[in-house]
Parts: sequence; C-alpha cells; structure tokens
Amino acid sequence: AMARKNFVVGNWKMYTTAAAARDLAAAVARGVTDDRITVAVAPPFPWLQLVAETVKGSPVRVCAQDVYPEPEGAFTGEVSTSMLLDAGCRAVIVGHSERRHVIGETDMLINEKARAALKAGLVVVLCVGEKLEERDANKTEAVLDNQLTWGTRDIPANQVSQLAIGYEPVWAIGTGRTATPEQAEQAHVFIRWRLSQIFGEEAVGSLPILYGGSVKPDNVHALMAKPDVDGAMVGGAS
Ligand code: PEP
Repeated sequence: AMARKNFVVGNWKMYTTAAAARDLAAAVARGVTDDRITVAVAPPFPWLQLVAETVKGSPVRVCAQDVYPEPEGAFTGEVSTSMLLDAGCRAVIVGHSERRHVIGETDMLINEKARAALKAGLVVVLCVGEKLEERDANKTEAVLDNQLTWGTRDIPANQVSQLAIGYEPVWAIGTGRTATPEQAEQAHVFIRWRLSQIFGEEAVGSLPILYGGSVKPDNVHALMAKPDVDGAMVGGAS
C-alpha cells in the first residue's frame, strides 16, 4: 500500500518434509512474477539451506522463523545469526505469537533477538499482536504499545530500514477468523504512529507493516488495499 513496497512472508511453521519444502519453494519461485512485491518463505531450520538453493536466481527471499541472540556458544538447540546467513537466509521472524504464547518468550528476549539480527544485517519481521481477551477489554493499543516499546528498545535508527512489523492478532492466527480490513488498518495506523514516536516520522514512512492472521486468497486483496497494510504474513495458506 502507498509508496511502500509490498512484502509477503509465507510462514511454514513446523510443517513440511525436505521433499515437500523443496517442491513448495520451487513452486513459489516459479509463481513470483510481480516485482512490486517482495516474497519471502520461512521454512523450518533444517530446510533453510535446501530452500535457499532451490530459490536461488529467483526474487524469492529466505526467512528463518526464529534466531538466538548470542553469536555462538553452549546454547543447545539454538541457531545464530551467522548460521542463518551461512544457510542463505536474509530475513528472520522474531516474536511470533506462537513463540510468545506457546514457547513463553518475553519482550526482553525478543528485543535481544531483533537487535542481534539487525546488527548481523538480516531483515527482521518483528511480530506483535493482542489476544482476544485483550481486544475485548479495549487493551489492543496498550498491548501493541508495550510490545513495540520493549521490542524495539535500543534499535539504532540507522537499522530501521531493515525492520518490518508483523501485526498478528492472536485471535486471528490459525482460527479462520480474519481481522476486517478496517481492524487491520486501525492497528497498523497505531503501530506506525507509535514507531514514528520512537524512530521519527521519516524513518518509519517506508517501514512495511504486514498483517497476519488467516490470510487467504479470498481476503488478501481487501486487506492489502488499505493504505497502511503493506503486506501479509501467511501461515496455513502458504
Ligand atoms: C502466522 O502464523 O503468521 C499466521 C498468520 O498463520 P495463519 O495464516 O495460519 O493464521
């Protein structure tokens, strides 16, 4: 929307075999013909390199679903920014609602991840979003404010060009219940306003804000038609 380049991320979550990941990546690479949209796929860690090799030469970008902030060390089960870069990855999702609410990540850890990834030169998709009970209690903006304030803490202004925000209301993820274009737009306007307070209006004017939560072929156009909806994060339908 507006002058911002559209950005679509397919989040494969903990799905796909190696063969399915390769086939899906190849199909996405064949399907991406519109250079006004940046398309990224986010496969599980074990398939990152395979997917990067598969989409090589196409405009499709490879995105990780998570990262650990430390450069290396005794952190069993974790993956560093340099490992992601080595695997051919150029972007990473941090703070996905499943990491916040299923795995139990805090805003503090999410902030460390975002800062480490930006510093390493990765594009960061920082996800935020309220739960249903928070929306029902009129706390949506307070929750977003808190997640943005802590999530972007100490991010240098000159790295904002590598940052994107994923607005993913928790009640809309994997539920089939999509936010209306108006609900998405309202949240995105708030997010952009809050970020302009933090980073200045100029830095934030070109920052993509993606909507996520039950995006499908039949609702993506109405959502993306809104001026502050600059793209989509797609889970199930990707
Ligand atoms: C997501 O997990 O980023 C997501 C938006 O999931 P779904 O499209 O399945 O709701």
